[in-house]
Amino acid sequence: MEWPLTVHTESPDGTKAVAAAIAPRCRSGDVVLLIGDLGAGKTVFAQGFAAALGVEGPVTSPTFTLMRQYECAAWAPVETLMHADVYRTGSLPEVLDLALAELVEEQAVAVVEWGDMAAAVLGPDTLSVTLRVPESSASDAATARDITITGHGNWAGRCDELASALSLLQPTAAP
Ligand code: ADP
Ligand code: MG
Repeated sequence: MEWPLTVHTESPDGTKAVAAAIAPRCRSGDVVLLIGDLGAGKTVFAQGFAAALGVEGPVTSPTFTLMRQYECAAWAPVETLMHADVYRTGSLPEVLDLALAELVEEQAVAVVEWGDMAAAVLGPDTLSVTLRVPESSASDAATARDITITGHGNWAGRCDELASALSLLQPTAAP
């Protein structure tokens, strides 16, 4: 398989399931960039991602705190999940440089909403996940999403594995 991988979901739970297929394949120091308009489902994705790492308690939008840190379950591949929302930040590079150094030291993975704004400072080993409401269903009540996933850096070796995990969710998806 080659990047990008594309999947379609029909509900928030479907988007959480996509996140849950990705989360176990993360390694310490990985950064997942979430890209998409307001309401696209970035926070919903982060919630599914956190649940799949055994994070307990609610995962809410970190908009006003920039970054929240959660402890993962003992069986998870990483000890810590960092959830950031960089939409409003004015001092992006400083904050993220610090956080990135911490990431590897603390056996952490980061999920960054509006990650395309921060891609330049987030290092080479990123997975970008773009969420979109399909044009055919653009209304406030629309629950369909197209999700496009592209790995960079050390994600290259995980493309096949990720593709098969995602195809289990969608056995009829086009190749
Ligand atoms: P963002 O963080 O991108 O601004 P949120 O995750 O906070 O967006 O909100 C997404 C909204 O869209 C939620 O109210 C969620 O219930 C709704 N929604 C409907 N369908 C989906 C779907 N397939 N995937 C994700 N969210 C969905
Ligand atoms: Mg959000």
